Amino acid sequence: MTAGGHGLSLPFARDGVRCDPSTTEEHTMAFALAPTMATRIADLYRRMEQAYDIVARQLDFTCDGCPDNCCDSYFQHHTYLEWAYLWEGLKALPEARRKLILERAADYAAKCEEALANGERPVVMCPLNEEGRCALYAHRLMICRLHGVPSSLTLPNGQGKTFPGCPRCQELTRGRAAVPTVERTPLLRELAMLEQELLGPQRGVLPKVKKTIADMIILGPPQL
Ligand code: SF4
Ligand code: SF4
Repeated sequence: MTAGGHGLSLPFARDGVRCDPSTTEEHTMAFALAPTMATRIADLYRRMEQAYDIVARQLDFTCDGCPDNCCDSYFQHHTYLEWAYLWEGLKALPEARRKLILERAADYAAKCEEALANGERPVVMCPLNEEGRCALYAHRLMICRLHGVPSSLTLPNGQGKTFPGCPRCQELTRGRAAVPTVERTPLLRELAMLEQELLGPQRGVLPKVKKTIADMIILGPPQL
């Protein structure tokens, strides 16, 4: 199957998300997230960043000079809203640049498939990473915004989860009696609420999202 105007071969259409001929340049450019929804997710993302910055400042933590680049970590993302907002960013890029990103995404997907088939967790640089920088910084997803500093989360069943932060941050917090954390729960709750609003009656009908950024790029904007 090909992706029409993208000119890429799409080896898969995972999790029931359609990958049909409407995933073309025309479909891409016709796609639009409602401006109010785009504003609200942008505002939520801004508050995630603020929460991250507060903790980073308290720990005197930055990514400056870090020899690692977490953008090669294998993550999957779970909302149509983030997928749609990512595409708002991709759409705003010049077509030639978007095509390059699509090519890198196809390469990323192939490498991940190979690693997964070998029972390994993929370590492949994100197709949006360009010379160490995020090509869609303002549209990067929640996990990209919260990864790094310690954080905590209470699941809907009441179970608590903690995340110690990246290895560099863990070095910094080792031995500390009290470690500041980003409380993810209200941020995730708000994201879930916006997702429900976006999906409306399609909630529970559409397949659950479990996609890498590359999947989201290859498949084109979500068909809502
Ligand atoms: S989040 Fe941590 S590991 Fe990743 S680049 Fe920043 S300092 Fe390095
Ligand atoms: S979207 Fe941007 S910040 Fe997130 S992994 Fe890719 S390059 Fe890194």
